[in-house]
Amino acid sequence: MAILIFIIGLIIGSFLNVCIYRIPREESIVFPPSHCPNCKLNLKLKDLIPLISYAVLRGRCRYCKARISPVYPFIEFLNAILYFLIYIKYGLNLEFIKFAFLASLVIVIGVIDYFTTDIYTNTIIVGLIVGIAFAIISFFVEGSIMIYIIGSLIGGGVISLIILLTNGMGWGDAELLFIIGLFLGVRLTLVTLFLSFIIGGIVGGILIILKIKSRKDYIPFGPFISIGAVISILFGEFIINKLLF
Ligand SMILES: [Zn+2]
Repeated sequence: MAILIFIIGLIIGSFLNVCIYRIPREESIVFPPSHCPNCKLNLKLKDLIPLISYAVLRGRCRYCKARISPVYPFIEFLNAILYFLIYIKYGLNLEFIKFAFLASLVIVIGVIDYFTTDIYTNTIIVGLIVGIAFAIISFFVEGSIMIYIIGSLIGGGVISLIILLTNGMGWGDAELLFIIGLFLGVRLTLVTLFLSFIIGGIVGGILIILKIKSRKDYIPFGPFISIGAVISILFGEFIINKLLF
């Protein structure tokens, strides 16, 4: 089962690549079929096997030999390994589906933000609809919906406050944490906030010390929120227990 989950993660990871490439270009994610961005030739099924096609073709287009970014196999592998780890932690149930969906969503949003410094409204809307659906399902399964509503208000609220006070983040960041709250509830959203500030602070500090970025440069915060959310899904309860000790 774990291997099957990993393979499904690879296939969905391949679809995430389509989203990451096309959403910022405002292209449809279903049409036209996958093609080489350089020579525009449609790719055949044998060119689309996650990881394997990239390895066999040694990172080049079969037809025009243009280099294919290593980001593609990286995203496929990342999504697959996250599905695998979520399955190991939660088993195969509703929580798995919820957290696997959120992991894929934050991969798409985080990677697009990293490359474009923008969080796209349509990715937020998809997350909002699915997040509300899961919160409603939780109401019927667990009898609680408040922890998700409060989680999203805290997540979105904390970032909104920072924007109003410091102007240091974007509204997309607040929207992203609002959605994450719907999926994770209060406790894991607080862990996500905590981790994203720690990781963002460390990485930002290193980039400034190494003079890769200056203090005035805009460093997108979405990728740190995404990393925080994923770590929170996998190790959030562990972190809470260790910190409260
Ligand atoms: Zn090509």
